[in-house]
Amino acid sequence: MLGLIKRNPIDRLSKALGKDKVNTSIVERKLYSYDATPIPVERETPSAVVFPESKEDVRRLVEVCYEENIPIFPRGAGSGLTGGAVPTDGRGVVVSFERMNGFKVDLENTTAVVQPGVVTYDFQRYVESLGLFYPPDPSSFKYSTIGGNIAENAGGPRCLKYGVTREYVLGLEAVIKEGSVIRTGSPVIKDVAGYDLTGLFVGSEGTLGLVSEATLKLIPKPPKRATALAIFKSLEQVGDAVTNIMTKGILPSALEFMDRDAIRAVEDYKPVGLPKEAEALLLIEVDGSEGAVKEQINQIRDILTAMGVEVKVAQSDEEAQRLWTARKNLGPALGNLKSGKINEDIVFPRTYLAEALPRLREIAKRYELSMVVFGHIGDGNLHVNLLYDRANRREEERAEKAVDEVFELALSYHGSITGEHGVGLTKRKFLRWQLGDEGYELLKGIKLLFDPKNLFNPGKVLG
Ligand SMILES: Cc1cc2nc3c(=O)[nH]c(=O)nc-3n(C[C@H](O)[C@H](O)[C@H](O)COP(=O)(O)OP(=O)(O)OC[C@H]3O[C@@H](n4cnc5c(N)ncnc54)[C@H](O)[C@@H]3O)c2cc1C
Repeated sequence: MLGLIKRNPIDRLSKALGKDKVNTSIVERKLYSYDATPIPVERETPSAVVFPESKEDVRRLVEVCYEENIPIFPRGAGSGLTGGAVPTDGRGVVVSFERMNGFKVDLENTTAVVQPGVVTYDFQRYVESLGLFYPPDPSSFKYSTIGGNIAENAGGPRCLKYGVTREYVLGLEAVIKEGSVIRTGSPVIKDVAGYDLTGLFVGSEGTLGLVSEATLKLIPKPPKRATALAIFKSLEQVGDAVTNIMTKGILPSALEFMDRDAIRAVEDYKPVGLPKEAEALLLIEVDGSEGAVKEQINQIRDILTAMGVEVKVAQSDEEAQRLWTARKNLGPALGNLKSGKINEDIVFPRTYLAEALPRLREIAKRYELSMVVFGHIGDGNLHVNLLYDRANRREEERAEKAVDEVFELALSYHGSITGEHGVGLTKRKFLRWQLGDEGYELLKGIKLLFDPKNLFNPGKVLG
């Protein structure tokens, strides 16, 4: 008779980790079933939310989940925009890394060992107080976590000069199938032993295993920065301006673009004095030694002025800060325009930008939609926002169709469907478009090697 009593797998998890680390309250389970994805995605309420506090907890929880066939949905701060941290199977558990938030800096080797739940901003502020620099700067850096940044290979404005998260991950400790602990890479700059498993893990969106620790590279903090604002009367000139700057031996630390509607949206939201009549703006930042910064900003001013573009150089840190705040306010500002927003982060090779930007506008016109474009134009990564009224199903359908064309356009120029936000749930259909059948099947094979039972973030990236 006793043999027929069914064990509750979550009880086993509580036993293995301790009750205070496994929460089964309905409130908690509901709260942890969301992330920042702005469009509706498939979602289930998980059976528990687990809060590991150590590497050993992570190992144990994977071991139990693998034995009990419990799907595992890793979560950082839930700021993802493609549904990556959303649980899609009610039998599964959400694993929140918020209690694993410690780090240690090795000053002599300029590296740091970091737990996945560390908030990126906290880490950056600390290393900068030591004269060091950890550049990856997703706009969500004030709340997103190192674990989430690694899983998404996050980037931001500074990645034009400094590269994305992957560039700064020297090694990882991760827990994969059955609770096996693997160590990838090493705390050195040069290491070419075998396949690059660290690189593979970065950007794998929690589908290969759980990152339990990362060794990060730090670089010297640049002593000076300067910011300039370039004001365009025509959209067509922007692509040429970017090419002209980037081919004259200058590598800005940020080169950000805002189109007419983006400018108006931020000015209507929290005015900072941007010219509302402009067709587009470039926000340009250079960094380095005092002399280099002065020389580069003057060079940029000369290049743009020769094209007939008006340039204003920020005269103080406060003025520069104000301009960057305008750029960072874009997300909430767009929320004020319409109730629905599809925000895609496509990438074009830089040389095609001049041609592609007007073609994006044509798509919006054809589908009678408002489109706001901004983003990291220096690396060709544009945030294309299609705005619609959620109560208007017809308009929503038009937006969904327009998105297909936006991706087709990016791929027709050999670009990418995502430069930052990852594939998650919302871009699965388009991944096959980009990789082709062979590439797609290879990815599936890799996933199976790490996770033969398909328990790590099932349904994400590959569907
Ligand atoms: C306003 C706003 C602005 C943004 N701007 C940018 C931007 O400029 N650039 C950019 O790249 N992104 C941006 N994002 C998207 C998002 O912030 C990033 O993808 C970020 O890296 C997610 O971090 P997170 O800690 O919130 O992770 P979550 O959203 O919780 O999770 C993201 C993914 O990581 C996985 N994961 C989390 N921790 C682990 C772990 N320890 N092991 C394995 N997998 C794990 C999750 O399963 C999920 O697939 C923005 C989001 C918002 C809301």
